[in-house]
Amino acid sequence: MTFLARADGELQLDGVSLAEVARRFGTPCYVYSRAAIESAYRAFDEGLAGIDHTVCYAVKANSNLAVLDILRRLGAGFDIVSGGELARVLAAGGSAGRVVFSGVGKSEAEIRAALAAGIACFNVESEPELERLDGLAGAAGVRAPVALRVNPDVDARTHPYISTGLAGNKFGIPHAAALAAYRRAARLPNLRVAGIGTHIGSQILDTAPLDEALERVLELVDALASEDIGLEHLDLGGGLGIRYRDEEPPDIRAYCGRLARRLAGRGLRLLLEPGRAIVGAAGVLLTRVEYLKLDKARRFAVVDASMSELLRPALYESWHEIVPVSTAASGRETARYDVVGPVCESSDVLGLDRDLAVRQGDLLAILAAGAYGMAMSSNYNSRPRPCEVLVDRGAAVEVRSRERVEALYALERTLPAG
Ligand SMILES: *Cc1c(COP(=O)(O)O)cnc(C)c1O
Repeated sequence: MTFLARADGELQLDGVSLAEVARRFGTPCYVYSRAAIESAYRAFDEGLAGIDHTVCYAVKANSNLAVLDILRRLGAGFDIVSGGELARVLAAGGSAGRVVFSGVGKSEAEIRAALAAGIACFNVESEPELERLDGLAGAAGVRAPVALRVNPDVDARTHPYISTGLAGNKFGIPHAAALAAYRRAARLPNLRVAGIGTHIGSQILDTAPLDEALERVLELVDALASEDIGLEHLDLGGGLGIRYRDEEPPDIRAYCGRLARRLAGRGLRLLLEPGRAIVGAAGVLLTRVEYLKLDKARRFAVVDASMSELLRPALYESWHEIVPVSTAASGRETARYDVVGPVCESSDVLGLDRDLAVRQGDLLAILAAGAYGMAMSSNYNSRPRPCEVLVDRGAAVEVRSRERVEALYALERTLPAG
């Protein structure tokens, strides 16, 4: 994470003091680096330079309009999983023609909206979805481009909650059923078979399962070709992991280079759907220590961020590095703390057993929080969502305001009197 550095003990993101960001915008506050997002996107794009490709950023990882706009300007496509995400992409100026739509439960309204916008492809996850899509495309007088999401039954060897490519989970069409589903799709009058897709999981650190999934999908491509079902693209999904602690994530450029060589000459456009690998390392969550609670068997640093702002530790027991924003201040002794939030749940933990030299009022930065941070935030305990700040060429720009308390109940009403 070269975009984070210390100068005179003060943590900076792309040269901007995080203490200054906290002073200006308050805490808790997400801060992202434009340069880091761009550099991760370019690693994919340049790694695949040898073949026809589109890097479709997985919007669910971080869907702030400014993030989408940065990626759109670089030529990214988008992988969406809801009508809400489609609306965000369009609001950020993204073009529907570079959007692919994934997800097991696309509603009629979502499909209609995507057909009307003219998206590039529906990643269909079941035969009933094929039928629904065909019907709605017919009613709209269009042919819907489809790829079937095939479940290759390979183990991504990641956390079970974020593993999606095994036979037992809800995603995709089983590998063994794929040929029959393609024959069906090819016969439906309002569909155009465009591609094939797969996505085996998230935070993948070993590329062997991805390679295995690719080979299984290529077998299907060949089997389909022998039945005269030709495909334009192959979508390998997302899932590349990042370093949270001491993981050794695959080198993006090298991995993409290998993909490009494997697919060279096949005449298939390659789509990837990275989310975490583009934005994860690019963001931090700034938080302030409210209290040090030392009267218990364990020591607690109670901070002003919580599972409402950053759910991953509570949901997946995931580990985020937590560091003081300033190491210049004197008189702090290092002690071992559980860093916890104010939310009334024992699972409201941001980090366990952290050795920190902090005092009440100090700022902490929770690192590698750019993906599935703000995107998974909630208003639990009636906590307004934090603001988001983007550091762009040495300037900190607020790209989402802190939610106002009134917004929490603006859509609610009490019963009429009596
Ligand atoms: C979540 C998801 C992604 C992105 O996963 P990352 O691990 O963030 O790269 C891509 N494609 C699909 C279909 C997804 O569900």
